[in-house]
Amino acid sequence: MRLGLHLSISKGLGNVAATAEKLGCEAFQIFIGNPRGWGRKPLDVSDVREFQKQVKRSVLGPVAVHLSYLPNPAADDEDLYEKSIIAMGEDYRRAVEIGADYFVVHPGKAGNQSLERAISKVAMGMKTILSTVKGKTIFLLENQAGGGREIAGRISELGMILKEVNCPERTGICLDTCHAFVAGYDLRCQQGLNQLLTEIQETVGLSRMPLLHLNDALGALGSHLDRHANIGEGQIGLKGFRLLLSDQRTSQLAGVLETPKVSADDDRRNLAILRQLLRGGGK
Ligand SMILES: [Zn+2]
Ligand SMILES: [Zn+2]
Repeated sequence: MRLGLHLSISKGLGNVAATAEKLGCEAFQIFIGNPRGWGRKPLDVSDVREFQKQVKRSVLGPVAVHLSYLPNPAADDEDLYEKSIIAMGEDYRRAVEIGADYFVVHPGKAGNQSLERAISKVAMGMKTILSTVKGKTIFLLENQAGGGREIAGRISELGMILKEVNCPERTGICLDTCHAFVAGYDLRCQQGLNQLLTEIQETVGLSRMPLLHLNDALGALGSHLDRHANIGEGQIGLKGFRLLLSDQRTSQLAGVLETPKVSADDDRRNLAILRQLLRGGGK
């Protein structure tokens, strides 16, 4: 498994690859604009060129872009839905522009709609974007914690969306371990992990899951609490991550940490723990 971090581009897109290397990443993920804002200034062309040059020169990859927090591509409210699909299309276009391998999206909240209606809305939005923005960047839907009418706490719901989108070459899923655990998949035992991977295989296909978000969970199993914890300090614990990382079915994937960055050392420590688990240590 290739491991990496979610990194900030606040010091410029042109600097992020150097930061990734300095922190010991093999892969990395970024937001491609202010994650808490709707507005997007055009990307600086020389910044994009510098980014691409640096990524090419390094051995970094895959590179993922995560959609910002505000869009809800399942939104009940028509205005918010339109705004969300436009914003999602714009961030996807930017991911294509910089040459990212993956674009990761949370499918959002159903609000007062039925699950079926919410699923159709996400699928319609994705179809529009994929037909208007051509590119090699694979569109990945991420499983969610499933609280407060969030869709895709169950992996099968991601499968339902992707089935409607019907574009297997350009779409897939990203599995977030924290979200899966608090949604009720018990990653601490082999049986729970098998159940999860079997559901992915049967509803999406494991070959369509190239990326993991490796986050421990502050909340309990089934709590739907979306709060990430450092590896080994949450409810999944080292045992759960050891099971996942030593599983043959995940060996070819990339895994990115989205853990809290409280002290400067947190990222390095989380990466080091995962690398130790990959080598079969950390018992
Ligand atoms: Zn995530
Ligand atoms: Zn989360």
